[in-house]
Amino acid sequence: MWRTAKHGKQGSTFAAFVAGAAILAVAGDASAFCRSTTCRATSTKECKTDQDNCPAEGEKLFWPTSCISYAVNELGTQDLDPVDTRDIIKKTFQAWTDVTCPDGKTASMAFQERDPVACKRSEYNKEGRNVNVVLFQDDDWKYRGIDGTLAKTSVTYNDQTGEIYDADIEVNTANNTVTITDDPRKVQYDLQAILTHEVGHFIGIAHSSDPSAVMFASYSPGSVAQRTLTPDDVKAVCAIYPPGSGVVCNVEPRGGFDPECPDPADAAAACTVASAPGEGNGATKSAGASLAVLGLGALATTLARRRASNRGSWRRP
Ligand SMILES: [Zn+2]
Repeated sequence: MWRTAKHGKQGSTFAAFVAGAAILAVAGDASAFCRSTTCRATSTKECKTDQDNCPAEGEKLFWPTSCISYAVNELGTQDLDPVDTRDIIKKTFQAWTDVTCPDGKTASMAFQERDPVACKRSEYNKEGRNVNVVLFQDDDWKYRGIDGTLAKTSVTYNDQTGEIYDADIEVNTANNTVTITDDPRKVQYDLQAILTHEVGHFIGIAHSSDPSAVMFASYSPGSVAQRTLTPDDVKAVCAIYPPGSGVVCNVEPRGGFDPECPDPADAAAACTVASAPGEGNGATKSAGASLAVLGLGALATTLARRRASNRGSWRRP
């Protein structure tokens, strides 16, 4: 059985959330999506949930623009062709673009792909320029305790308003074989399905209790179903970025675009909020800066298959 792995303080929120979501799913809840909020659970504090089991505390997260730019780390992943990889990533963002809402109009969200970047770090630089990066962790998945996780999206936002400043997606290719084939016999962990889910987090959507939704918290190995938005996912993006919202398009990352990440030593005073190794969560709030990063451990599994010493060969734990 696949379920979300426990992953530290922030993860306890999701573990509880998913457990409740399963109950709702059995009850056949029709509108199942939830929005991420500024509330972050800790070891001593849980975030209240409403009758739909959605976060009921904190401000709802949102991008203050109708279009967001992202870039893929230039290294890609060692197992996949870089051009194919980039194409697949583009499709995952496109899935959330030009979505037709229930009223027949188009949701106010689109994406711009930038050229691949050298930056290979999930971070937000408060004092400087930024990039929303998609990267692969081929060698080491630093988020201890959530190494069964397939991918992680870290969202940095204004703690008072919920305005999103930055989002980065990391794929755990150190522990999982991701594939980009359409051949059902060869699909293992489908990159397109995984990243379509992560892009949902990227734009402020939390997990859905609808088992068919892209934003459902679990992924079944070999499945490509989560490549395609379901009506529940459509409702989510339409709720956050409604048609005709009048929000302008601004693809510039906050502080300007930077294809390279500053060295952590240089950034010591610059509020780097990527989670520290060993913490197992990304919920770091920078003192006095009203910023927080929400670690959204996604699509996890407790049946993490470990990469065997000879690459490409697999064994069960
Ligand atoms: Zn997720």
